[in-house]
Parts: sequence; C-alpha cells; structure tokens
Amino acid sequence: MISEKIRQIKPSATLEINRKAKELKAAGVDVINLSVGEPDFDTPDPVKESAVQAIRDGFTKYTEANGTPELKKAISEKLEKENGLVYSPEQVVVSNGAKHSLYNVFLAIIEPGDEVIIPAPYWVSYPEMVRLAGGVPVFCRWDENFKMDLGHLKSLINKKTKAMVLNSPSNPTGVVYDKKQICAVAEILLKNNILCISDEVYEKIIYEGMEHTSIASHSPEMKKLTVVVNAVSKTFAMTGWRIGYIAAEKEIAAAVGKVQGQTTSAPCSISQKAAYSAIKGGEKLYSGMIEEFRKRRNYLVENLPAELHYPVPMGAFYLFFNYRDMDSVALCERLLEEKFLAAVPGADFGADKFTRISYATSMKNLEITVQRLKEFTSENK
Ligand code: PMP
Ligand code: GLU
Repeated sequence: MISEKIRQIKPSATLEINRKAKELKAAGVDVINLSVGEPDFDTPDPVKESAVQAIRDGFTKYTEANGTPELKKAISEKLEKENGLVYSPEQVVVSNGAKHSLYNVFLAIIEPGDEVIIPAPYWVSYPEMVRLAGGVPVFCRWDENFKMDLGHLKSLINKKTKAMVLNSPSNPTGVVYDKKQICAVAEILLKNNILCISDEVYEKIIYEGMEHTSIASHSPEMKKLTVVVNAVSKTFAMTGWRIGYIAAEKEIAAAVGKVQGQTTSAPCSISQKAAYSAIKGGEKLYSGMIEEFRKRRNYLVENLPAELHYPVPMGAFYLFFNYRDMDSVALCERLLEEKFLAAVPGADFGADKFTRISYATSMKNLEITVQRLKEFTSENK
C-alpha cells in the first residue's frame, strides 16, 4: 500500500530517540534525555500573552496563505536590522516551522534528478526532504575543522547540481563559519550558479564573540542565489508554536507560496501573533537563555572525560563526539541500556563514528551526564 518514495526514506532519528527516551521516563526509568534539540526554557511571557490576546480578540481564522502582512513586515525589518539584508515583505513566506519552510523550498526548486549538495555532518532531515522532493542528495566531506572540504565541494559540482545547503551554526557539530569561510563558499557557488539554502535557525545561539554571517550578505549576486531559512523555534524557545520562514528572490518566494497555498495554507493565526511579538521583542527575550547555554557548554567542555573527542561547539546547543572510533549506533544503544543516557547516533547525521548530545537540558542533568560518561569510559578502557 505504501509508496516506494515513502518506503525509501528513514524516520527522523532525533524525534524517534526523543520518543523512546520519553517512553522510558514515563515508565519510571531515570533517563537523561540528551536527544532532541529544543530549548528547555519556557516561551517568554510577553509572547504567550500575545497569543492569549489573539485568542480573546478572535484572531482565530485563516490568515493570508504566506503569513500575515504584519508578521512578514516584522521579518523583513528584522532581516534588514539584524542581518543587513533587504527583502520586501512579499519576498517572505511564513510556514509551520523551519522544517516546513525547507521542504517547501525543495519542492519549489527541485526537478527530478537534480542534485543538492549537503555538507556532512548534516541535520538528519535534509537528505530525506531532498529525496521526497525528487532530488538526489550528494554529500560533501568535512575538513579537520568539521567545516566543508572546499576541494571536495568543487569536485562534486556538475550539470545536475542545483543547490547546496549551508547550516551555520551547525546542527549537529556546533561549528560556525566565519566571514572568510562564508566568502570562500560563496565564490564557489557564484562561479557555478548554484543556489544556497541557508538554514540560519541557530543564528542567535553563538558563543565567544563569534558573529553570525548570512551568506546572502556576501554580495548582491549571492543574495539572489540564496534562500534564507529561519524560525522563532530555537531563538525564542518556541519549538511547539511551529513558525518558520524564508526570504528569497521574488520568483522563489512566489513558488514557495504556491506550494503552501495548495498544501497547508497559512500557519496557525495565533502562533503568528506570538511570533510577531517575539521578533519585535528581540534580544531581551533570549539573551538570558543564551547565557545559560554558554555556561552549560563551558561546563561540558571542562568536565567531559578526555577520551571523548569533539569540535568545541561555537554555536547551537549540541556537542558531537567520537569515542574510541566506536560505531555510533552500538554506542548509543549501550549508553541508553547501561547508563540511561539518550543520545543520537551520528550515523543519521552522516558521521557514523560520532554521537550527538544536546545540552539544552538542566545543569543538574549535565552533571549526571558527565558522571555517567566518566563511569562508562572508565569501564571501557
Ligand atoms: N534546521 C535545523 C538545523 C534544525 O536543527 C531544526 C530543528 N528541528 C530545524 C531546521 C527545524 O526547525 P523547526 O522546529 O522550526 O521546524
Ligand atoms: N532540530 C532538532 C534536532 O535536531 C529537533 C528535532 C527535529 O526536528 O529533528 O533534534
């Protein structure tokens, strides 16, 4: 009964392990859930208030399919003020989270057989979305700094290459591309007329004076080739509200809008009011949370057992480690069974000797995590 296309794709490992961890927890097992990547903080009160107000005001009907004019304007102003990118509101499309935005974009741009370059290690959903849209994911190797190997990138480009995904700060590694590296990538894409799907959902979760650079800010030509993807999910601890967006050339935005108009229509009217209030509220709503992530990341880097090897995360809230080159699926199974630690195997991120832990959990949980990982490594010398 099930189509070949759906049989071919894998379920989302991040969501699956999260489900398993929650099930164990509900059964009374003392599991520390380091799997799913979502802030453990509450959505800021003013944001919640706007949603309550929206309900009271009866703002509970379909909105314009691409998002409300007020929210699109706020996003367009945000992009100009915070990213130096000028997009008119009609170049913005609001969807049900960045995941939905990404999928809409792939549907809008991919012809059957088009190749999309995905630098590994990558977020689990990119390859499957590309496949669902009829494209072919092609993986670029990482270099010694866990950034894409530019020589390999160049060698992958051919007539079928349509687009490349860039995710900085990165899920799962936490690496952040600096301006120079962004520039080097842009030069290659420009030379070959390749679109860049720039997933910037972790732009504000960034440490040690690193700055987020959108590849669209490289040059007017690169801006034309870029689709900026972002969301309120991570920045404002709003994963459940499901609001993401894209900004792109008018032609692409219109195509994305067409896909959305015939499939899901507009995202939730109430969530759009909440997202508006979050974006307008800006930094004061999330700076405390980022400070907390910074402390947790420092704690892990200072206390994890020395046998774990990883790039020091400069952004997002993940740490991606290698332990004695062990196969990640086997390692995660053992961590869950023996130490009740739920982590995600790197195999699903295109790096099977690595394991991802999310430190979007309390300091107390991280102390227990460190303790259990120390026990595990000393038992497995
Ligand atoms: N991109 C990346 C890199 C992510 O980690 C996530 C988290 N799910 C998303 C996109 C999707 O975000 P959203 O919850 O807004 O759909
Ligand atoms: N992006 C998060 C993660 O990687 C949320 C789960 C998902 O949508 O994959 O864990």
